[in-house]
Amino acid sequence: MNFELTDDQRAVRDMVAAFAARHIAPHAAQWDKEGTFPVELFAKLGELGIMGMSVSERYGGAALDAVSVALAIEELSKADAGVGVTVSVHAGIITRIVEQFASDELKEHYLPKMCEGTWLGAFSLTEPEAGSDAGALRTSAERRGDDYILNGTKQWVTNGGHAKVYVVFARTGGPGPRGISAFLVDRDTPGLSIGRETDKLGIRSSDTVDLLLRDAQVPASRLLGTEGAGYKIALANLGVGRLGIAAQAVGILAACLDTSVRYALDRLQFGRPIGAFQAVSFKIADMAMDLDAARLLLYRAAWQKDNGSTSIDASSKAKLFASTAARKHAAECVQILGGYGFTKEFPAERYYRDAKITEIYEGTSEVQHIVIARELLGRLDERTSVDRPLRPHVQRKTPSQDGAGQPDRTRQ
Ligand SMILES: Cc1cc2nc3c(=O)[nH]c(=O)nc-3n(C[C@H](O)[C@H](O)[C@H](O)COP(=O)(O)OP(=O)(O)OC[C@H]3O[C@@H](n4cnc5c(N)ncnc54)[C@H](O)[C@@H]3O)c2cc1C
Repeated sequence: MNFELTDDQRAVRDMVAAFAARHIAPHAAQWDKEGTFPVELFAKLGELGIMGMSVSERYGGAALDAVSVALAIEELSKADAGVGVTVSVHAGIITRIVEQFASDELKEHYLPKMCEGTWLGAFSLTEPEAGSDAGALRTSAERRGDDYILNGTKQWVTNGGHAKVYVVFARTGGPGPRGISAFLVDRDTPGLSIGRETDKLGIRSSDTVDLLLRDAQVPASRLLGTEGAGYKIALANLGVGRLGIAAQAVGILAACLDTSVRYALDRLQFGRPIGAFQAVSFKIADMAMDLDAARLLLYRAAWQKDNGSTSIDASSKAKLFASTAARKHAAECVQILGGYGFTKEFPAERYYRDAKITEIYEGTSEVQHIVIARELLGRLDERTSVDRPLRPHVQRKTPSQDGAGQPDRTRQ
């Protein structure tokens, strides 16, 4: 085993950390307060190669490995978690989908500008009635001649208000995941408009909007993969997206640790730095330990991806652990700062608000538990005792005999 980052990975981390310290951290409190989406920042990140970090060099990308991508998102999120998610969605998910599934013509059209950071991408799966149960989405895509006509409302689209291009999931077939297709939809598509802008608890420098599709006319050439392959495209890339959110959570956690250590050394009470009190120092020790553990899970999952593993549960474990730790220790960071932690004079309260979302998007913590448990137990929730007894020697009554209902077929 080798726990060292390579020289290239260290160089990416240090470059992004230096950029974030100069161009992001000094503005993060103001962007948070005013809900500002720092649109000009992304062209600067494009110059650094970060907006195209997952794209191959032939389209202007930096072709970084998954560990470097995680390190970049971590460093951005340490300074501002809203910037972290913007980059995670654009560079961690959308550019990858375009390169993997779009036609050569569309790749040539979109990827160079996406790598420059002048065109942003957005991922549009969720709907008002379809969140964790994304396979139940209702937006329709009906083939008419050379076009698909899309109708529906998409909800909480990160980057949506500023994006040039959207990966939109819509139903071309029957009910359930197999009826879903994915489309690369341009901002200028007739029938596409931006709906409500979401006012949020945290990550307030990120942009979250509804997307309205009213007879939106999308050329058939913009179908990604084949009809019915949309859900697979979504799930495969949500696995990668989860690494991005785990990295975001690790960044927030690292920021909490820095703030807590500095404050514990500086703040004097009863004539001593508060770090001298075991109640405070143990909180910091736990925070450092969970940060290490979260990083190890994240880097391992990213390393596995770089080495050809398709393991979904590694990214789910990384996301679940890192987000739980970020939420828990952001609260402890506020506690260590006492009353000052509750004020806007210090960033602890922002970390506390920002951390919460990492437990919700790209699959809630409950969904991550389901994914991890299914790796070990299979899909027990879709099986009755009649299909296959849990243990051969345990005789069960059939569902009709014992009055049990049908198995839950909720899909994640
Ligand atoms: C700020 C923000 C940005 C977002 N960005 C995007 C984006 O860019 N693109 C996009 O497509 N979506 C985006 N989302 C949507 C996000 O992915 C969903 O909010 C998330 O998947 C959960 O769906 P939901 O909110 O509908 O919750 P629900 O699915 O309604 O869940 C509500 C609660 O029930 C629990 N629950 C649901 N089903 C089960 C089950 N089977 N077992 C146990 N518990 C269950 C959940 O864990 C949760 O606690 C964003 C959301 C937010 C808030």
